[in-house]
Amino acid sequence: MLKTVKGVVLREVDIGDYDKMLTVLTAEQGRISIFANGVKRLKSPHFVATQLYTYSEFTLYGSRDKYYIRECTKIESFFGLRDTLPSLALAAYIAEIACDVSLEEQEEDTLLRLVLNSFYCIAKSSKPLDLIKAAFELRVLGEIGFMPDLVGCADCGKSDFETYFFDVEGGTFRCDDCFHRAEPGFEASLNRQNENEGIYSGSRLIIPLSRSVFVAMRYVLYCKPERLFAFELKDEAQAEFYSVCEKYLITRLERNFASLDFYKSVKQ
Ligand SMILES: [Zn+2]
Repeated sequence: MLKTVKGVVLREVDIGDYDKMLTVLTAEQGRISIFANGVKRLKSPHFVATQLYTYSEFTLYGSRDKYYIRECTKIESFFGLRDTLPSLALAAYIAEIACDVSLEEQEEDTLLRLVLNSFYCIAKSSKPLDLIKAAFELRVLGEIGFMPDLVGCADCGKSDFETYFFDVEGGTFRCDDCFHRAEPGFEASLNRQNENEGIYSGSRLIIPLSRSVFVAMRYVLYCKPERLFAFELKDEAQAEFYSVCEKYLITRLERNFASLDFYKSVKQ
């Protein structure tokens, strides 16, 4: 039975000289594997639509173990992604995360839109790559169920502080007063470390955040999907925001990404 899906190619593995195995994130079926027969030949009618990071419409046959292409048509190739090595490396990182967190045989409309929005923004290079990266990291965690509690201090419930102490594993914030009441001795260790790196309180990673970073996190998690990258950060808040989003992702997904190391090694 034929089925038609729209999806973005997240991964490709060469099979012999002419074929590829694709991992595609679709709105309708989540993450699927597609055996793409003969697509490495330049004259293949499916050559363009099966390129890495291309968003295409596929008409498929087969079953959940492996699908085969009857027809496919490119919708968007995000050509600008390939303009620089850092932008390509960021696309690879986003694709690797999407592969990791996506489900099979289940709707993944929200995740697909998030990946497409990110690719679009990278391709037209309208925002700093680090901002796109951080906003993607935080938003994707919110979408898969790791929404931090951004209402206010986890102990006293108040909000609006100069500094917020973010418990990375718990995804909760505390105000200065409540935090120091619970964690006496924190200040001494904080002074010995780079604040952007956070510090460990017992086994828990705590990152002190400024008000503007807290506001940016709230924005990224609650804005409309199409407004995700439509915010700016003052220079001094940027490094803090980028760092906390990455640490939150690595902590919550409990793994490292080779593509992240690569991105860091090539970015300007
Ligand atoms: Zn408090």
